[in-house]
Amino acid sequence: MMQDLSKQQPLGGETALVVFSGGQDSATCLAWSLARFGRVLTLGFDYGQRHRVELDCRRRVRDALAALSPRWAERLGEDVLLTLDTYRESGQNALTPAGTATDAAPLGATAADGLPNTFVPGRNLLFGLQAAIWAYEKNIRHLVLGVCQSDSSGYPDCRDDSIKALQLALNLGMDAHYVLHTPLMWLDKCGAWQLAEQLGGAALVDAIVEESHTCYAGERGVRHDWGYGCGQCPACRLRARGYAAYKAACAASSPLETPRA
Ligand code: ZN
Repeated sequence: MMQDLSKQQPLGGETALVVFSGGQDSATCLAWSLARFGRVLTLGFDYGQRHRVELDCRRRVRDALAALSPRWAERLGEDVLLTLDTYRESGQNALTPAGTATDAAPLGATAADGLPNTFVPGRNLLFGLQAAIWAYEKNIRHLVLGVCQSDSSGYPDCRDDSIKALQLALNLGMDAHYVLHTPLMWLDKCGAWQLAEQLGGAALVDAIVEESHTCYAGERGVRHDWGYGCGQCPACRLRARGYAAYKAACAASSPLETPRA
């Protein structure tokens, strides 16, 4: 059953801008924002990612979340898609067409710099900056990012220190008062599913499973209990592991004994 979080909303009069890819993490962040802010906009980026399926899922996730609650539907504002050419023009990365992932170096393999070859350098810093720029004239100060330090494949721009430094740089450099919200920062993927359940019950978990997209290979043909994906890439393995842990935690917390009279 969906919690009525509206009664504990100190931010009901404010607007949030969610950096929204259509993946599990940003879908959960969108729900988190809809439960807190009076108005919520979504911002996505076409930066030359290998698969456009992620972009196609954005609208379906938005529609699915709006369908869960009239209040959420009312709060959900416009969706914006910005084109970033930086990676197309200079990127050498697994998730962009000019990338280095091949049969010889599969997705997730460790590159020469010690990071997974799925790391897109500076991506979250660039997204945060672009979000701040877009929000500036509209006086939107709440920016929501689905980054996560605990279970993030080791991407340095997902770390708490990186995001705190970005917030400081934005506020100093733009003489602004942005607040960068990162509701998933200290959660693992199991915790992210549990957060979704707290926010919107089993219906939200089901909507995220069905409509969000995480797979690096762009696979939408094969449906697992945790959603669509190849099942082999690092993102699928992380998502599958987290969902299994979430289900196991649910089973463990279910009352198995008959309550005593
Ligand atoms: Zn996959």
